[in-house]
Amino acid sequence: MNTDTTFAPLIELSGVNKHFGALHVLQDIELTVGRGEVVVVIGPSGSGKSTLCRAINRLEPIESGTITIDGRPLPAEGKGLAALRAEVGMVFQSFNLFAHKTVLENVTLAQLKVRRRGRAEAEAKGRALLERVGLASQADKYPAQLSGGQQQRVAIARALAMDPKALLFDEPTSALDPEMINEVLDVMRALATEGMTMVVVTHEMGFARSAAHRVVFMADGRIIEDRPPEEFFSSPRSERARDFLSKIL
Ligand code: ADP
Ligand code: MG
Repeated sequence: MNTDTTFAPLIELSGVNKHFGALHVLQDIELTVGRGEVVVVIGPSGSGKSTLCRAINRLEPIESGTITIDGRPLPAEGKGLAALRAEVGMVFQSFNLFAHKTVLENVTLAQLKVRRRGRAEAEAKGRALLERVGLASQADKYPAQLSGGQQQRVAIARALAMDPKALLFDEPTSALDPEMINEVLDVMRALATEGMTMVVVTHEMGFARSAAHRVVFMADGRIIEDRPPEEFFSSPRSERARDFLSKIL
């Protein structure tokens, strides 16, 4: 990865704080993700990685600080929020496909409802995206008829169908059998190479090393380190990161 590239900011979090009751789950978060940048977020379970992702498109409200998407502050609610949320796609661990809709319907529905495209256009785009994730032949099946790896690739195609400016991935391969992990990571690597802006929470350190421009290490609701992967993995600065890496590598 070329880490000399400078990226224009696309997602900016400044002074972001959030509690769950007494738990300070996001503490003074400062994070900038540039256009075309791939940021991998790692850290122990419970450190706030999912909450961070959810805060970025306001699935979780924050208490203080600002979140800016492509120069526009994220509003707390209303039409402006729906519009900005559509700019940042999210892919979850659990796929979250519509079980009673076909694969093609899954990648078409939001295009009709949110993007207000006509059916022919939406289906053409849906089929092209299914082709891109290697699932053109599965368009008329239902999610339950697909493997986990295939379902997650449909979820990625569905997110891409909105033409998002950025994609957030929250442990996209954690629910998959080992033999299916690479088919999903390969799709993500291709997106990264094509310049998609991505925030990826993952335990796949091979992906972090090969695809990330930066690794953000979180612990106890804080960003402890934010550095290029080759620096982070070879010489983590913090005791917390050294301890974490010694357990997973
Ligand atoms: P991670 O994704 O790094 O494992 P999370 O962001 O899911 O961490 O959670 C961070 C902390 O916040 C954990 O201690 C978790 O139990 C807690 N938490 C997450 N969601 C909620 C919620 N809706 N209500 C209360 N506590 C929560
Ligand atoms: Mg999580």
